[in-house]
Amino acid sequence: MTKSKVYFTDFRARGDENLMEKLVRLCKAAGMETIDFKEQFTAIKMHFGEPGNLAFLRPNYAKAIVDYVARLGGKPFLTDCNTLYPGARRNALDHLSAAYENGFSPFSAGCHVIIADGIKGMDHQDVQINGEVVRVARIGRAIMDADVFISLTHFKGHEATGFGGTLKNIGMGSGSHEGKKEMHAAEKPAVDRDACVGCETCLTACAHDAIAMSEGKAFIDTGKCTGCGRCITTCPYGVIQPMDKRSAEIIVKKIAEYTWAVVKDRPCFHISLIMDVSPFCDCYANNDAPIVPDVGMLASFDPVALDQACAELVNQQTPNPNSMLGEVKEHHGDHFHALFAETEWQTGLAHGEKIGLGTRAYELITMR
Ligand code: SF4
Ligand code: SF4
Repeated sequence: MTKSKVYFTDFRARGDENLMEKLVRLCKAAGMETIDFKEQFTAIKMHFGEPGNLAFLRPNYAKAIVDYVARLGGKPFLTDCNTLYPGARRNALDHLSAAYENGFSPFSAGCHVIIADGIKGMDHQDVQINGEVVRVARIGRAIMDADVFISLTHFKGHEATGFGGTLKNIGMGSGSHEGKKEMHAAEKPAVDRDACVGCETCLTACAHDAIAMSEGKAFIDTGKCTGCGRCITTCPYGVIQPMDKRSAEIIVKKIAEYTWAVVKDRPCFHISLIMDVSPFCDCYANNDAPIVPDVGMLASFDPVALDQACAELVNQQTPNPNSMLGEVKEHHGDHFHALFAETEWQTGLAHGEKIGLGTRAYELITMR
C-alpha cells in the first residue's frame, strides 16, 4: 500500500522564525502551493471555540493560513456550522458573536467569517453518498460552495469519538442541524432510573427539552431527543448511556462518510495542531488541563493519515501528571481509550480507508 506523506514540525522556535511563519513553511513543504488558488473561494474549516473554553486554536494560526491563501491568489474565508448543543453557537448570530469574542473577526483573522449553514442551521446542500451508514449527507451550504477546502484542526480528546481530529472537524463540523442530528442519531440515550439520584443536573444540558423528571428520577423523551449526546457526559453519576450498543462505531463511520461528502471532487488540504490537548471537545464552555504536552503541527493531503499520525504522536507522550489522563491508572498505550473506554477511533479511520478517504499508512516527514 502506498503511504501518504504527513509533514510534521514541533513548536520549537529556533532563530527569528515565529510559529505562524513556521506553520506556513510546513504547509509549503507539504505541497499546499500545488493547489491552484487563483480567484478560488477557499473555505478554511475550523472550530471557533465555545466562549469560556481556552483550548481552541488561537486565531493567529488561522490568520497565518488566511494570509498564505490570499498571497496565493485565493479568496479565503473562515467557516464552521452551528451546533445542536445549548450554548453560544447554536445559530449564526450567536455563533458569529462567539467567534468574534474568541478573536476570529475580519480585523484579526484578515478575512470574513461565514457560518456555513445559515442563521438557524437549516441551510445545507444534500450530497449523495450512498455509503454504508449515510445515504445523503447534509453539509453547510457555504462549505459546499467553496472551490477549495482546507481544514485547520485543533487535535484534542473527545468523549464520543476518542479524539477530535481532522475527520471530526470536517465530518461532524460541516453538518447542518439535520446532518448533525443524523450523525448523532445512534447516540440517543436512556436513563438508568434505578441508578439516577435525581440531582437534575442533566436538565440544563438538553437544548431540546427532552429530559424531564418523574417520581424524582430523570427520563428522556426519545421523540424530542436529537441524540446530541450532551447529557451523557453531563450526568455526574454516569447513569445516562446510549441505547444502541453500536453507537460508538456508528458515529465514527458516519463522520468518515460525511467527511468524504465534503472533500470529494475538489482540491483539499489538511492541517492539524496538537497543542492544548484537552480531554474534551472545544464545544464545552470550559477546558480541563491538557492530558499530554504540546506535540507539534502537521499537514497532509490525506485526512485519514493525518488523524492516524496525530493519534500515534499523542499516544507516544507521557501523560501530564496533573490532568484527567494522569489520574488514570491503566493506559495500555492508547490514551483515548484510557479516557473513554467505549469509543472507537480506530474503527472510524479504518472506515475512512475502506471508503477511499485516505490511508492509515503514512510516512512522517519531520521538518525542523
Ligand atoms: S436528551 Fe440528551 S442526547 Fe437527547 S437531545 Fe437532550 S441532551 Fe441531547
Ligand atoms: S444528572 Fe444523572 S443522576 Fe442527575 S437527574 Fe440526571 S440522570 Fe439522574
